[in-house]
Amino acid sequence: MEAQVRRSGSKAPAGPRRLSVRRDDQVLVRSGKDRGKRGKVLQVDRERGRVVVEGVNIVRRHQKATATVRQAGIIEKPAPISASAVMVICPACKKATRVGRTEVEGRGRLRKCMRCGEPIG
Ligand SMILES: [Zn+2]
Repeated sequence: MEAQVRRSGSKAPAGPRRLSVRRDDQVLVRSGKDRGKRGKVLQVDRERGRVVVEGVNIVRRHQKATATVRQAGIIEKPAPISASAVMVICPACKKATRVGRTEVEGRGRLRKCMRCGEPIG
């Protein structure tokens, strides 16, 4: 009998996924303790399907001074949240939207806002 592929409950996803969110996007947080907050995407981790959003999911780290880190003490920084917890805010219509794909003459395939249809850069 063939071994069954484990599809749920596993911590490590199969591989990099295509996420609709990119670095420097403005996003709206849809769930979790920071629901309703907006912020800029600072980092995207496609392997884990997680994003770091400015001002969202702030954690306190107790940082000791080292050779490279001079700023010691308690520092606050955003921790990664699930990419599925955020929605991209369309730069054209300023609304949180689902993201599709569209072909744009001379620019290739781009993301597009499912509300107003404008391509997202
Ligand atoms: Zn739009």
